[in-house]
Amino acid sequence: VADCLFCRIVAGEIPATLVRRTERTVAFRDIAPQAPTHVLVVPRAHHENAASLAAADPGLLAELVLDGAAVAAAEGIDGPGYRLVLNTGPESGQTVFHVHLHVLGGTALGHFGAPTGPAAG
Ligand code: AMP
Repeated sequence: VADCLFCRIVAGEIPATLVRRTERTVAFRDIAPQAPTHVLVVPRAHHENAASLAAADPGLLAELVLDGAAVAAAEGIDGPGYRLVLNTGPESGQTVFHVHLHVLGGTALGHFGAPTGPAAG
């Protein structure tokens, strides 16, 4: 998709630190890591979010989860545990509308994200 950042990373037009490639997925390090391990797993095909991907190609959503687990194992965080996140829509913090699975770990993570908007507190 034109002007999609992650389509351009998949195409090799924008550099990224790739950690895993499969026939249908690519995984690369987040440019602004929120944990010692912070990797994004994306399908090569453009889908806007997790639900639209699940509707269009449920097997591909499962591949993202399995790739996330493979990345976690390669990073040595499958034992202690890791978090998989699929932000959906602006209030979740989704900024790139090409579905991406965040793989976060390497430290003890807080329990859920804290609200930061008007409802906080
Ligand atoms: P989200 O906020 O869930 O849409 O996640 C988008 C993520 O993409 C953020 O964590 C960004 O830090 C990350 N990101 C943005 N641009 C790049 C890039 N060029 N390479 C790697 N990660 C990026």
